[in-house]
Amino acid sequence: MGKPSSNSRSSAKKKTAPPTGTPGLVLAHYGQASLVEKNDGDLIRCLSRKNLPRTICGDRILFESSTPHDGVITHIEDRSSTLVRPDRNGRIRPVAANIDQIIIVIASKPSFEFPMLDSYLVAAELINTRPIIVVNKQDLLNHDSHSKLEQRLDTYVKLDYSVLFTSTLTTDGLKSLHQQLRQHTSVLVGQSGVGKSSLVKALLPDLDIRTGQLSKVTGLGRHTTTATTLYHLPDSGDLIDSPGVREFNLWPVDADELAYGFVDFRPYLGTCRFSNCRHNAEPGCQIKEAVQDKIISAGRLANYHAMLASQGK
Ligand code: GDP
Repeated sequence: MGKPSSNSRSSAKKKTAPPTGTPGLVLAHYGQASLVEKNDGDLIRCLSRKNLPRTICGDRILFESSTPHDGVITHIEDRSSTLVRPDRNGRIRPVAANIDQIIIVIASKPSFEFPMLDSYLVAAELINTRPIIVVNKQDLLNHDSHSKLEQRLDTYVKLDYSVLFTSTLTTDGLKSLHQQLRQHTSVLVGQSGVGKSSLVKALLPDLDIRTGQLSKVTGLGRHTTTATTLYHLPDSGDLIDSPGVREFNLWPVDADELAYGFVDFRPYLGTCRFSNCRHNAEPGCQIKEAVQDKIISAGRLANYHAMLASQGK
């Protein structure tokens, strides 16, 4: 994916030429064309060379241009992470590249389930991104319900996950959220109704103006509001957004991958008596022992089993 084509059989003298072109960042992808931002902030519409895979939002690329408004992508840099999601036919599709933070939005209304939160956390871990848990609609919590929720989320704080409380109504917590987004490329995910669109509007107050500017360059009218798009945040940092990305969730994974996505299981993986241990009723299971010793939370192990079952494993 995105690797320079290699002619490794050629003699040592005939090394593959390093890729050339002007660097750019793919802000969005439309049909065959990519909307590319140059280092000076100018936008250019690019098609890709035939031998290249499809670019996705967030790709860092090299391009050559014949006019100020049109270019050809000649190279895609290796991706540090790729966010994927199944399409309508269940095939896994890459949707965004080089994300380093996934902001998992939950709320007391609609209430959230811990298996769902764990499935977002596992997805974030498996693509090598830092998850941040945002509890939105803080204004709906009174003192008691706030501390109860904090207690329930304590397991995650102990795992070193950031937990932030926000409200788009009162703007509480939004400053802290802005700070967490600085210098990072982030994406907001979470179930419908928790306030993701409201948070995007709060983080990008001029979103309508920006989508208008992008539409002008692509000539595709309002299409940009539904395409996965990278926006620069006012305080530095980038946010990748699209309705499809917001609904992203865990793709099919095997039992070992799933266990690896639970950061608290990692020190014990490969240490159980049976190499194919599913951490259920098997003797000599080190993860179950860690649960008995209260090192791993029983709820996390139960969620692992629930996720395995929901994946038909
Ligand atoms: P999304 O489906 O996750 O994008 O959620 P929306 O942003 O569309 O918000 C769903 C509903 O929750 C809307 O009626 C919002 O006005 C409301 N909402 C969003 N943020 C907050 C908040 O912080 N507090 C309260 N009380 N309501 C909120």
